[in-house]
Amino acid sequence: MTTIMKPGEIEPPVPKAPWLRLPERETLFARRGERCKTLAKGHVLEEYLLFMAKVAEAQQEALNSYGQTALPDAALLHLCRQHGMPPLARQNWQRDASWHGALREIIGMVRDAAKPATKSSLDRLLAEGGPAFEAMADRLLAGDYAGIDLAAAPLVGAALQVYWMHLVTTLGRDAFERSAAPNLCPVCASPPLTSIVHHDGIEKGQRYLHCSLCASEWHMVRIKCTTCQSTKDIAYHGIAGDAGAIKAETCDECQSYLKIMSMEHDPNLEPTVDDLASLPLDILMDKAGFMRSSASFFLIPAEEVVA
Ligand SMILES: [Zn+2]
Ligand SMILES: [Zn+2]
Repeated sequence: MTTIMKPGEIEPPVPKAPWLRLPERETLFARRGERCKTLAKGHVLEEYLLFMAKVAEAQQEALNSYGQTALPDAALLHLCRQHGMPPLARQNWQRDASWHGALREIIGMVRDAAKPATKSSLDRLLAEGGPAFEAMADRLLAGDYAGIDLAAAPLVGAALQVYWMHLVTTLGRDAFERSAAPNLCPVCASPPLTSIVHHDGIEKGQRYLHCSLCASEWHMVRIKCTTCQSTKDIAYHGIAGDAGAIKAETCDECQSYLKIMSMEHDPNLEPTVDDLASLPLDILMDKAGFMRSSASFFLIPAEEVVA
């Protein structure tokens, strides 16, 4: 006897894409450094991208040798999961001083490649020590860049990224739950750096928001403003003649934009580096009257930093 199956009865269920992707601790910064070197060739920001390659390599080393640090306890993690609160919120989580070691290590590794003025800034910061590190970290994590030393800021941001990435990868994915605020990182409550559309496996074609601090990625449906959640009047703008892998997703409702990077167009995209390298798109969107919703520790004038 033959049993006739209807279509759909024999296929295995389609696996659901994960709602949260944690960064790859062993490779993320090393990959970032490689991408910097690739995109630097002939780029208007060549010197800065080459300096950032050294910073990324130093971040990977600092992460690989990260020492003991305090973690949120089980009760706090449980409470946060219940209420959709990011347990490592950038402005509320009580940092311990372990990240100071990462900052000193990163500065030690990149100082020789810095401009003389940047070297002075970094030397001054190192001489001032812990309280100055903490004061600058508070400002950066609050998104308050006015009047801070822009030459030293990217290095402090780099060390904070290492610290948060150490925390998130030590805790693991099950520690987290979806955030009540879908436009903020469910791990650390940061705004996204960019959207990224993945190109393989069960995540193919799915849009994730990439965290500017801890590099976690959380799922969000496509064609929706990541700032005000509007689904009306969303448009995509690119630069004519380029590969089309990076576009600005604009929202007429709140006049903001966030870049969207398609790994289906370019599987080698790296959010932080490609955000820097696509600076001409930011200039274009600024001229068109849209506000950038994304924050980056690294998007500062290149002449401030490089030797
Ligand atoms: Zn995050
Ligand atoms: Zn909007």
